[in-house]
Amino acid sequence: MRTVRLRLLPSGAQERRLRKLADATARLWNELNYTRLMQFRMMGKIDFKGTEHEFYHKYKDKLGVNAGQVVRLSNWAWDSFFETLRLYRQGKLPRFNSKPSPPGFWKDKLLGKRRLIILVRNDRYYLEQVNGGEGYLVLKDWGLKIKYAGRVKWSGRQGMLMIKLEDNRWFAYVPIEVGSKPVRSNPRGYVMGVYEKVQIEKPRGSNKAFIDIGLNNLFAVVFNHSDTAILIKGSTIKAEYYWWKREIGTYQAIRDWLRNCGFKTWHKYHAFYLHAVFKRRERLRHYYRTAIRFLAKTLWQMGIDEVFVGYPYLVGQDNGNEYNVNIWWFSKIIRWLGEVLQEYGIRLNVVNEYGTSRQCSICDMKHENGRVKRGLYICQTTGIGINADLNAARNIAKRAGYEVPMPTKILGYMVTTNGVKPLTPKEGETTKTPKINPTSLR
Ligand SMILES: [Zn+2]
Repeated sequence: MRTVRLRLLPSGAQERRLRKLADATARLWNELNYTRLMQFRMMGKIDFKGTEHEFYHKYKDKLGVNAGQVVRLSNWAWDSFFETLRLYRQGKLPRFNSKPSPPGFWKDKLLGKRRLIILVRNDRYYLEQVNGGEGYLVLKDWGLKIKYAGRVKWSGRQGMLMIKLEDNRWFAYVPIEVGSKPVRSNPRGYVMGVYEKVQIEKPRGSNKAFIDIGLNNLFAVVFNHSDTAILIKGSTIKAEYYWWKREIGTYQAIRDWLRNCGFKTWHKYHAFYLHAVFKRRERLRHYYRTAIRFLAKTLWQMGIDEVFVGYPYLVGQDNGNEYNVNIWWFSKIIRWLGEVLQEYGIRLNVVNEYGTSRQCSICDMKHENGRVKRGLYICQTTGIGINADLNAARNIAKRAGYEVPMPTKILGYMVTTNGVKPLTPKEGETTKTPKINPTSLR
C-alpha cells in the first residue's frame, strides 16, 4: 500500500460544493462519535450496530454510500481504542504511554468549526489523467470533475479516497495497492502510475548498515563491511524546526491575549497560527524526504541489502507536546525510510535502541560522562574518542548481532532546500564551495 497526494484545484462552484460535502461528512462523524461517546461513558460499551444504522440512514441522501465509509472509519477508531484500553488495563503498554482516550471530534477546538474531510468509497471515484503531472478527479455520486496537479508514482488498485482541506488548500489522498489488478466489478478502480511494483531495483550486495536517528545528526550510519561512516547533518532541519516553533509560539501568545481581553481579532491570529503549524509540517516533510531518498540511494550503491535502525526511546523527555511531536516524526521517518528502502529491495529492521547512546561501542562498558561535549564520546578505558552518534550506531549493530569496524573515514552531508550536499571536501574543493552533480544526489 502506498498513498499518493494530489493537490486539487476546484473552481469556485466546485469549492462551495466540496465545503458542503465535507461539512456533512464531518457532521456525520461528530454526531456518530458523540452518541458513541455518551454510550461509552454511561455503559462502558457502545452499540455499534444500532448507532451505525441510525446515522448511515440519516446521511445517505447527502453522501450516498460514502456515508458508510465514515461509519467504517469510526468503527475502526473505536475498535482500536477498546483494544488499546484493554492492553492498558492489563499493564501491557510501555510505561510512558498515558491512558488512551476515545476517538476525538473533527473540530477545531478554539473556533468550534468542523474540520473539513470527505471520504469516498473506492468504486465511487476515478482519476482521469491528462499527462504525468495533472488530470481530473471524478466523483461519481456528486457529478464533480475537479482538476488536480501532482504526479502519480504508483500503479494499482485504488482504495478509499480522502479529500482534506489543509491550510485552505484541498488535497486528495489516494491509497494504491501497488501492482494489484482492479476487481471485475469496478474496472475503472485502477490508477495508472509510473511503477507497477514497489521494488524497482535489486540489492547490489549483501552488506549491512546500522543507523542511529537523531536531531544533530539526522542519520549516523556505520557498516559491517567497511570502515566508512556516513553522517547526515540535521542542522538545517533543526534550525527550521526552532524557527517555526517560535513563530507558532508568538501567534499563539498574541491570539490568547486578544482572546482573553475579548478582542474579536484573535480569529486572525489563530489563522496565522494554523498556517505556521501547516508550514512547519510541510517544510520538515520536504527535508526529511530529501534526506531519506539520498540515504536510500547511497546505501543501495554501497551494496546494502539489510538495514537496522534504532527506534528512539525518548523516556524522560515526556514534556507533553514536544515529546508527542518528536515521537510522531520518528515514527514517520522510520516508515518513510522503510518505504523508500523497499524500492531498492533493501530490508529494514527496527531495533530498540534503549541505552545505546550511553554504552561504549569500544569496550562495551557504560562510562559515566562518556558522552562529552560537541557530540564526542570518549572511552574511558582506552582513551579513544568517537562521534557520539556513530557510537550509538555501532551499538545498534551489536544489538543486531554484528561486529562493525571502527570508522576511520567519515562522509559528512547536509540537507538543504535543494538537495543533500557533501560537507567532506574532495581534492581541490572546500566545504564552502561544494561542487556537486545534482543527478547523483537525487
Ligand atoms: Zn569504553
